[in-house]
Amino acid sequence: MKIKLVDLSANYHSIKDEIDMAMAEVIENTAFVMGPYVEEFESKWATYCGVENAIGVASGTDAVRLAVNGLGIGPGDEVITVSNTFIATAEAVSANGATPVFVDVDRDTFCLDAARIESALTKWTKAVLCVHLYGHPCDMDEIMRIASVNNLFVIEDCAQSHGALYKGRQTGSIGDVGCFSMFPAKILGAFGDAGAIVTNRNDVADRIRLQRNHGRTSKYNSIVEGGNARLDALQAGILAVKLKHLDKWISSRRALAARYHENLAGVVETPIERQWATHPYYMYVIRTPKRDTLLTHLQSRHIECGIHYPIPLHLQQAYSRMNLRSGSLPVTEQAANEILSIPLFPEMNIETQDKVIASILEFF
Ligand SMILES: *Cc1c(COP(=O)(O)O)cnc(C)c1O
Repeated sequence: MKIKLVDLSANYHSIKDEIDMAMAEVIENTAFVMGPYVEEFESKWATYCGVENAIGVASGTDAVRLAVNGLGIGPGDEVITVSNTFIATAEAVSANGATPVFVDVDRDTFCLDAARIESALTKWTKAVLCVHLYGHPCDMDEIMRIASVNNLFVIEDCAQSHGALYKGRQTGSIGDVGCFSMFPAKILGAFGDAGAIVTNRNDVADRIRLQRNHGRTSKYNSIVEGGNARLDALQAGILAVKLKHLDKWISSRRALAARYHENLAGVVETPIERQWATHPYYMYVIRTPKRDTLLTHLQSRHIECGIHYPIPLHLQQAYSRMNLRSGSLPVTEQAANEILSIPLFPEMNIETQDKVIASILEFF
């Protein structure tokens, strides 16, 4: 039998009754667009993250795009970010007419290397957009310190870091704005596209609320042009149910990660968790120079794996205009050749995990 990287069906079936009831309620009330279910989820997500404002949006892509926009970043501005991420991170900058500037990452955590921010600064730099990759928080004190010295905004891409803690604080609550994706496979995933933005800055929250819904203050009164990036109410109802289980699911992810560590350390490089971090393990990413042959071996054993991400953004055709050659971000590029995401999801049982472990040990 095939072992999946992430088993969304197992997750649904573990809470099927609650989910089905919540969906039926939204449908019975025909409260499909904005309204009480969206507001309820926003309020619960703000509380969970420990922030003043949560704004539901249609996707993680919209979350990052509207966060950049909400800070007034636009044409002529530069935003420092990373290349080892999903393309939505960089697209959010370009979509606002600004320019993403890629810097290299920390070899151990795969997160933006704060020590490289200053050499990437120009007079056009407006913000640092960091990604808590795989769920491991970035070194936020250092990023915030450099940002404050240089008068930069800090945007956190939290698409992979629901429930991750940096020195006890939720990711997303530290910078100016935090952006979450609730894409189905994410740590807190909807049954379709969904996302949320969190911020303590009320001015930014107000701008984002207008932008996600046609600049409207009432049904037919728009004070600015915006668009439609609303969180679907059915997804909000589902997310409110799933949020009740989130901490339990994260504990389960961490317990599975601990078992992987115990069994795989010394055979492959296992993920680092800095002493100030609580890592929710969106992905459990091992590292080995034999990555490609290990991947083929695991596939032959019907174990699904992933590479997050195989081609760094600066080497993608979409960014060929930047003229960044291979070798320009050496830490990022080497990681892309050596990383492998192996199955981990809250409902994974020990027997299944043992098969993954045994197949890896067998290979080595
Ligand atoms: C998933 C993801 C996004 C985009 O989220 P969508 O909900 O798929 O639009 C953005 N950034 C990162 C790092 C992601 O992993």
